[in-house]
Amino acid sequence: MSTQTRHFNADVSRLLDIVANALYSNKDVFLRELISNASDACDRHRYEAIQNPSLINKDPDYRIVIEADTSARTLTISDNGIGMSKDEMIDNLGTIAKSGTKNLMEQLQNSASHDNALNLIGQFGVGFYASFMVASQVDVISQKAGDKDIYYWTSDGKTGFDVKQADKSDKDILISDRGTAVRLHIKADHSELFINEKLKQIIETYSDHIDVPIYLKGSDTIDAQDNKEDGDNKEDEDKPVNQASALWARPKNDITSEQYNEFYTHLSGGLSMDEPTLTSHWQAEG
Ligand code: ADP
Ligand code: MG
Repeated sequence: MSTQTRHFNADVSRLLDIVANALYSNKDVFLRELISNASDACDRHRYEAIQNPSLINKDPDYRIVIEADTSARTLTISDNGIGMSKDEMIDNLGTIAKSGTKNLMEQLQNSASHDNALNLIGQFGVGFYASFMVASQVDVISQKAGDKDIYYWTSDGKTGFDVKQADKSDKDILISDRGTAVRLHIKADHSELFINEKLKQIIETYSDHIDVPIYLKGSDTIDAQDNKEDGDNKEDEDKPVNQASALWARPKNDITSEQYNEFYTHLSGGLSMDEPTLTSHWQAEG
């Protein structure tokens, strides 16, 4: 199949322009957005497999894998969730479907100052497009569960994107016979994202409550402590970085207020702009 080039819809172009020019202090939230999409995709697959168990196809263990490649300067977030067909990639990644983001755009229209606009982005989150805060190019390789075809979407986050059937080399990036890999070509000023400890810290801060295990493939990342290529931490790679358990199932004393706040934001689908008035933690047998 030949490559199809498309323009972003006007809303997306505007949002990308804001994202690209934002001196947004907390760029790390891009990873929260991508992990949350990967986790949503696993939930959707789990749900659809209830109706159609053949979709599980010998791979029942949902997982999210984050792999850094320092020589290629890429960071790839992969999942074995529901995946996307070609049309879904065009629709979902080329238009703003998310109601929260639409809401954000309206607020931005009314917001007088630049600082205020940046604040709003921080509070609402910008979903998938947050990738372009740290990446000069984003590739998405995806195989919809139950389909044979694998598609490749790529964009520099400026005017539009290309879609084509994936080549052999791109297919290999998928961790299952279904799901999605989002490969970020990291900008020169974001090399901190290749430090293992930095990635762990971002995941612990923003994504600890995600109930799909998140694995960090550190073979190519640089370990902050000894600052050398970290090639022999295979044991660590087998352990999820997140707790992969619901917040309420854990002891109260293990949970920080930051984690409660993240969970609160997560529950509202990123829509809440405030912090919880009160957190009450209790466990009961049901
Ligand atoms: P939201 O998650 O709020 O819908 P996003 O901008 O984060 O908004 O993502 C846009 C859409 O792209 C999602 O709704 C989903 O349909 C699709 N998508 C993004 N990432 C994935 C993924 N890893 N697997 C499957 N679909 C995805
Ligand atoms: Mg999202």
